[in-house]
Amino acid sequence: MVNLPAYQHLVKRFSDSGTTLVAVSKLKSVSDILVLYNAGQRDFGENYVQELVDKAAVLPQDIRWHFIGHLQRNKVKYIAPFVHLIHGIDSEKLLIEVNKQALKVNRTISCLLQIHIAAEETKFGLDETELTTLFQTLQDSSFQTAFSNIRLEGFMGMASFTEDTSKVRDEFKRLAALYTDYRVIETPRAQLRYLSMGMSNDYEMAIECGSNMVRIGSLLFGAR
Ligand SMILES: *Cc1c(COP(=O)(O)O)cnc(C)c1O
Repeated sequence: MVNLPAYQHLVKRFSDSGTTLVAVSKLKSVSDILVLYNAGQRDFGENYVQELVDKAAVLPQDIRWHFIGHLQRNKVKYIAPFVHLIHGIDSEKLLIEVNKQALKVNRTISCLLQIHIAAEETKFGLDETELTTLFQTLQDSSFQTAFSNIRLEGFMGMASFTEDTSKVRDEFKRLAALYTDYRVIETPRAQLRYLSMGMSNDYEMAIECGSNMVRIGSLLFGAR
């Protein structure tokens, strides 16, 4: 069941602050997506490549599809022709593959780096050392052709799944601080302007900590 009142509330809440709402529609039906589309929503997030490809084929062309899941390199080619923003870049190898597939379809693909902020081992993402190394590569002029068709537009992170709100806040603040630090670094392929953090349970705190892009699923579409 799509929760339209919740949707209208979020739209109103985010309209002043310029926060981008990504409606996370993974495992939800095409007809549910259309309910939100008809209410005006255009940014949708999906986690699984095949599911995204199938949905994009039958849904309106002006939807901006965000890939928010863990992306395997051998699957980049399926979403490269149409994806709007890839949130989960967690290695240089993956970034290079995105570039390669973007080049093939003559596009520039916008990407966010996923940064590991949670305490859990299971969450994907770059640690701070890997982030530093990747930015050094991005600044290296001899690497520019490897990144000719990507645009790095920000960071994405997921906080720990815990009731401990002070821990969640600390994790969001750490990511926001990294974002602030890296925003000022000039590289030809990076113009950071999105900080993607916050989901149904923690988006209020994420925004408080500086998020300007939230990924909200169950609050809009019901439990999965
Ligand atoms: C599923 C998912 C979301 C949405 O989670 P909800 O709790 O349903 O809002 C956001 N981000 C990522 C990366 C997800 O996998």
